[in-house]
This record gives sequence, structure tokens and C-alpha cells, in this order.
Amino acid sequence: MQADRATIWPYDERGEPGPFFYSRYAHPTGAAAEERLGALEDGAALLYSSGMGAATTIILAFARPGTRIALAEGSYYGTSLLMRDLARWGIDLVEYDQTRTPPAAEIVWVEAPANPILTMPDWDALRAHPGLVVCDATLSTPVFLHALAEDVDVVLHSATKYLCGHHDALLGATVTRDPEQTARLLELRGRAGLQSAPDAAAALLRGLDSLEERMHRITATATEIAGRLAAHDRVARVRYPGFSGVISFDVDDARTAETRTQLIVNATSLGGETSTLESRHRWEGDRVPPGLIRLSIGLEDVDAIWADLEQALA
Ligand code: PLP
Repeated sequence: MQADRATIWPYDERGEPGPFFYSRYAHPTGAAAEERLGALEDGAALLYSSGMGAATTIILAFARPGTRIALAEGSYYGTSLLMRDLARWGIDLVEYDQTRTPPAAEIVWVEAPANPILTMPDWDALRAHPGLVVCDATLSTPVFLHALAEDVDVVLHSATKYLCGHHDALLGATVTRDPEQTARLLELRGRAGLQSAPDAAAALLRGLDSLEERMHRITATATEIAGRLAAHDRVARVRYPGFSGVISFDVDDARTAETRTQLIVNATSLGGETSTLESRHRWEGDRVPPGLIRLSIGLEDVDAIWADLEQALA
């Protein structure tokens, strides 16, 4: 589908707005992509300017001064930075081990799996928690996880990653089941101006066409690479949840190893058709081990990826 880049659509003959009248609220390409993603997740999807745009909208919609948010340790650094910044607005952030029972909090924010520590949440403990449960399912995608079926309230995706899948679109998404929660997010998205761009929504439609095939191929390659890394004598520890394409592993000198790859791009982000890797310590400091490398497996041949890693680690 070509992106419809209009920002306005005429009112009808009675001077009334139709479903699309100003693109900050809704636009046809976004609506088509929301329909497809919602069907995959069995909920109501909304798109945003980026994953962080989606996260910001969730906080604006459901938090107020004094709200305590319990965030999974080892989850996406940018999410924790946003929440720490919002201490100025009275948001009280606590980080907790998501493999255990969450502490008392109005909002529990987990990642399945956490990027880059790759733990999974304890679903039963979350189900028993009275707070609003937000699950960032970016690394799982709907191919491997239906977080709504785990009784999560709000599913969050950085669609920039696997859902679009080609390192060429910045996009976020939420999926909800409760109509009141969906309406609240829609309201805040429009008010705050965090709507998606039509081109990114078109990239999502393209990405969803191949999502299932990409995720299965990426998982097969990542499973093989994680096994070979675990047997490598320069690798101290490998984390891999058994599905999807992110592996994190520890070496002595991550900053040297990351600059030696030739096929795998030394860049941030993940989830594209091109493999990427980076040392995360440069961004996160002691929140992660100093030698941690986050590797995102793409669609290249498994032996070509391995040969590149072997020469980088030599
Ligand atoms: N959530 C996770 C798990 C991520 O990895 C990222 C980005 O890396 C985000 C959210 C933020 O998404 P975006 O970069 O699309 O704003």
C-alpha cells in the first residue's frame, strides 16, 4: 500500500468531519496498518511516532504525580531514562527483577524478553498484581508472544525493530483490549502529537507481509549462533531466550570486538534484515556487564555470520 501523505481531508457536504480529517489524529495508512497489527494481536492497535512515542503516551495516559512504576531490570535503557526524567513530574521509578513478584506499584512495566539482559517476566505473578501491566513485546513480536493472552493490559512494540524489519522506519505501537484504555491512549496520542508517520505505517504493512517467515529464519540462525558462541573460548556468558534474534554475550574487550566485524554492522538498534551488534556498556554504564555485546541476528547466511564473529573474536 502506498502511503497517503495528506494531512487534511475535506469535511462532508454538511460540513462534518469523516473518519480522517487531520492526520495528527488518524490517517488511512495508519488505520490500515493498525487493523493488520490488531488482528495479529487480537486487540486494538494504535501506532505512534516511535517506540518511545508509544511509551510516552502510555505514561501520559495512565500515570499522574505520585504514580509508582515498577520497571523490569535490564530492560531497554531508553525506557528507564524516560521514567527517571519524569521524576520531575512526580513519577516514582523502582526497578525490579521481573523473574520474581513485582513490588507494590500502580504500573508494572515488563519486557518480554528484556533488552539486553533477556530475562522473561513471571506471568503468574503479574496476573496476581493489582496494577496496570504494560508489556514491551518488541523482541518477541506476535509471532512468539500474545501478551494480551497473559492478561497484560497494554502491549508495547518498538515497530522500528522486527515489525517493520528493514532498519528504515521509526514506529511504535500499543495493543489493548479494554475500550476505555484504547480511547484514553488515542486521546493522548492526538493531544500530544505522537501520531505515526504515514510512510512508517506503510513500512509496517510491508514488514507484516514477511514477519512470520523472517522471525522463523532469524530464530533458526540465532539458535545455531548462540550455541556456537557458548562453545567459544573467548565468550564468558551467552544469554538467548530460545526464540527471536537477540543474543547478548560477554567478552573481555567488547569495544575492540564490535569494531572488527565486516558483515555484521556495528550499529545500535536491532530487528532488521541486516545483523547488527554493539557494546551496550557505552550507553548503559554499569547497568550491564562491561563486556556485554548485544547481537541482533538478521537474514544473512548462518555460516557467514559465524565466520564474521569468529574473526572478530580472534
Ligand atoms: N523498547 C525496546 C525493547 C527497544 O529495544 C527500543 C529501542 O531500541 C524501544 C522500546 C524504543 O523504540 P524506538 O527506538 O522505536 O523509539
